[in-house]
Amino acid sequence: MIVLGIETSCDETAAAVVTDAREIRADVVLSQLDDHTPYGGVVPEIAARAHLEHLDGLIRRAMAEAGIGFGDLDAVAATGGPGLIGGVIVGVMTAKAIAAARGLPFVAVNHLEGHALTARLTDDVAFPYLLLLVSGGHCQLLAVEGVGRYRRLGTTIDDAVGEAFDKTAKLLGLGYPGGPLVEKAAARATNPARFELPRPMLGRPGCDFSFSGLKTAVRRHVEELGGVLPDADRDDLAAAFQATVAEVLADRCARAIRRFKEDHPQGGALVVAGGVAANKAIRSRLSMLAEKQGMQFVAPPLRLCTDNAAMIAWAGIERFRLGESDPLNFAPRPRWPLDPNAAPVIGRAG
Ligand code: ATP
Ligand code: MG
Ligand code: FE
Repeated sequence: MIVLGIETSCDETAAAVVTDAREIRADVVLSQLDDHTPYGGVVPEIAARAHLEHLDGLIRRAMAEAGIGFGDLDAVAATGGPGLIGGVIVGVMTAKAIAAARGLPFVAVNHLEGHALTARLTDDVAFPYLLLLVSGGHCQLLAVEGVGRYRRLGTTIDDAVGEAFDKTAKLLGLGYPGGPLVEKAAARATNPARFELPRPMLGRPGCDFSFSGLKTAVRRHVEELGGVLPDADRDDLAAAFQATVAEVLADRCARAIRRFKEDHPQGGALVVAGGVAANKAIRSRLSMLAEKQGMQFVAPPLRLCTDNAAMIAWAGIERFRLGESDPLNFAPRPRWPLDPNAAPVIGRAG
């Protein structure tokens, strides 16, 4: 089985060709970073136009790299949400057009399910597993019990963790996108223990997260230091922020592991996914936790943590081989929670 995947939900335009034998035959990603940098964040209208301009060429490139034609495909999968709706529409319409023209099945993939199932593309991971999904728009702990079967154990009550990285980077004058820049600054720190930051939710019952207090604490330090920081201060503060986030994530995961093991005494892996999973300090902190708990730990390779289309093609394969596909009148979904039964958190996409 061979599937074309399309991803256009945020500011990466991406196309990939993946097989059910877990072979990534092509995986091309075009970052729109330069288009959005002048604005300090992603501008939805600019993103949608850039997807429209580049997607056809990227699909052609992916197909050529994979050495196949449309006639060789078994299905076309595209991100159907959640995300910036203009971009999602571009990807979905393109996928539907290929499916209609070639008489192929169309699979609308939940972008978060793409992140959630990536570990099964790269590693031998069986259901159930405990997933920490940490990305630009989400911070959730989920019991993944099967394809399409997610139980949310915890979520952020304010900022997503990637958002916290991005805002902290801005406060520190590091630029956008924040995650990788904060990580680099933290690696340069000469006195990483210099700043003490609050550890939101640490030790509290439940598995929810909160990051807005941490961001405020960083702001306060920046103000106390006079607004524009010398490199050494900036790097030490970045290190303090990153270490605190890693500590909080590990604390919440430890609680979630307890709950997960109650429901699944046979066990399962600890999996981390989403853009923030690219952070090496966070990966190693979680890997330590998993080892202590006697759990397999899986983190996808860095390039499959941030947005890509291989994960969309793979989630499409996972659904399609269970007999699932979507009608050509599928409507793109700006909001699409993985666990529809979880209580909504005000103002968040689930
Ligand atoms: P979502 O998946 O929730 O819809 P998104 O698709 O925008 O959001 P991703 O592409 O999965 O998010 O992740 C992007 C986020 O990951 C950004 O907030 C970015 O700062 C963060 N990120 C990327 N690399 C790193 C890193 N090395 N360390 C920390 N954060 C990182
Ligand atoms: Mg992005
Ligand atoms: Fe994402």
